[in-house]
Amino acid sequence: MLTASVALPLLEARKQAKQTVVLILLGPPGAGKGTQAEMLSETLQIPHISTGDLLRSNIKAKGELGETAKVYMDQGKLVPDNLILDMLFARVAKEDCQKGYILDGFPRTLAQAKAYHQRLGDEIKTITLNLELTNEMIIDRLSKRLTCKECNAPYHLTFSPSSKKGICDHCGGPLIQRNDDKEEIILKRLTIYQTQTAPLITYYSKEKLLKGISSNQSIENVLKEILDYLREIYRSINTS
Ligand SMILES: [Zn+2]
Repeated sequence: MLTASVALPLLEARKQAKQTVVLILLGPPGAGKGTQAEMLSETLQIPHISTGDLLRSNIKAKGELGETAKVYMDQGKLVPDNLILDMLFARVAKEDCQKGYILDGFPRTLAQAKAYHQRLGDEIKTITLNLELTNEMIIDRLSKRLTCKECNAPYHLTFSPSSKKGICDHCGGPLIQRNDDKEEIILKRLTIYQTQTAPLITYYSKEKLLKGISSNQSIENVLKEILDYLREIYRSINTS
């Protein structure tokens, strides 16, 4: 894990920053957005907000936004962008997001990005990190994922294999490949991702700070590259 000599100065720089800094993580399925978001959240002590979690917690809370979202979902429809944004802005208005937060899985489309930044305004700085991975690598990573049929524990043939082949370490259940992780489904997800995200990448590289990070390296090295970049950013904020 991270050494204190790397993490602490960065946390200190984040605390001293006079500006709120939002981190947006982009990247194809399998690039490790969720993992990096968790580690960044821990290092910088700012919340990690995923729109999937946000939606689930709103529905569970049975508030107005959650109840409205549920109507769409029960009909098998997509929850409208505006409703997602209402949930997101209600969440980031809370005290723990005042110094910044990390978005993972949002925005997904150009329309979402434009609507988000319009509501966010120009006062708040956003940094977009694009985790890059080739299609071959994505397929290689995702097609080696296995899930326990009984308890849903995740495994990976290369990165986190079970101690007994095909058997869950936790419950002894059989390990299966989810439909989502089969090659033809992965290819479909990638095509959708690329169609939606290409204009998003163009938008961010023209209008905002966008930094490409190769995800074709260990989790630790991806994190280190992100932290090195953030250190520069905080330095420039804190000295300007
Ligand atoms: Zn299991």
